[in-house]
Amino acid sequence: MRVGIGYDVHPLVAGRRLVLGGVRIEHDRGLDGYSDADVLTHAVIDALLGAAGLGDIGTHFPSDDPEFKGASSLRMLERSVAMIVDAGYRVVNVDCVVIAQEPRIHPHLAAMSSNLAHRLGIVEVNVKGKSPEGLGSRLRRWPPSTRFDPTGPSGASRHLPMNGEEQSRVTGH
Ligand SMILES: [Zn+2]
Repeated sequence: MRVGIGYDVHPLVAGRRLVLGGVRIEHDRGLDGYSDADVLTHAVIDALLGAAGLGDIGTHFPSDDPEFKGASSLRMLERSVAMIVDAGYRVVNVDCVVIAQEPRIHPHLAAMSSNLAHRLGIVEVNVKGKSPEGLGSRLRRWPPSTRFDPTGPSGASRHLPMNGEEQSRVTGH
């Protein structure tokens, strides 16, 4: 069994839709990025690719690829799952944490889990929500090297206001 960790962060800006785990959430701002900037799905993709030893999201889905401009990140997830299966692995379970100061994402967690599980072809997807308790604005002033403790997933609580982190397990068959 192999385990991967994914992490991602996107800025929250005006004039963008907010999409997390493929769920459109009504909010006055959204995440900025080349695709739909679905930070949760991006972190899941990175964890899956990492667990399988297949690099990262930027390698397979470069941000200048016109196919993915404004695209649903769930499509990238489907492609990633196909790569993992081709490599002889299958996804066993996925556990995620979304850290967001705003909006409240708790009402949407079940829908996010369902979307991801559907694309992954598994039922064991768990999405959790955490608030940084107002610490996000302080974190933005920190130098990048202090934002993340790479020694383990416990570093998640030190991340920027809107991000996704998850662990996944893949196993050969
Ligand atoms: Zn991203």
